[in-house]
Amino acid sequence: MRKTERSFNSTLRRESKKRQRLNRVRNKITADLKNQPCAICGKKSDDTHERLARSGGGSITNLSNLVRLCRTCHDWITHDVAGIRWAIEHDLVISRHDVRAKELRDGKTADELERELRGE
Ligand SMILES: [Zn+2]
Repeated sequence: MRKTERSFNSTLRRESKKRQRLNRVRNKITADLKNQPCAICGKKSDDTHERLARSGGGSITNLSNLVRLCRTCHDWITHDVAGIRWAIEHDLVISRHDVRAKELRDGKTADELERELRGE
C-alpha cells in the first residue's frame, strides 16, 4: 500500500489519549458518586454536573467542581432562566467571569479559584 493510501484510509481516533484517560477517571468518579442524592432536591441523582463547565476550563474530575443532580434539577439549571439564576446564586453554575467576582467574596485570588475548579 502506498503511503498516501494508508493515510487516506486511516481512521481518526475519536478522543485524544489524554481525553480517554480523563474520561476513565471521570467514569470512576461518577460511579463512586452515584449514590449521592441530588444536591438541589435530595431525590436520587442521575447526572454529574460541572459547576464551571468544561468549555470554560472546568475540571471533569476534581470533586470541588462536581455536583450530583437529578435529571429534573439538572434540566432546570441548564435550560430554565429562573433555574439558571438560582444556580448562579447558589454557586452551582459558575462562569469564567464569576471567578473574578468570587475572588473578592471568598478572599481567594481568581488564579487560586480557577486552579481549584480546573482541578490543579
Ligand atoms: Zn433534583
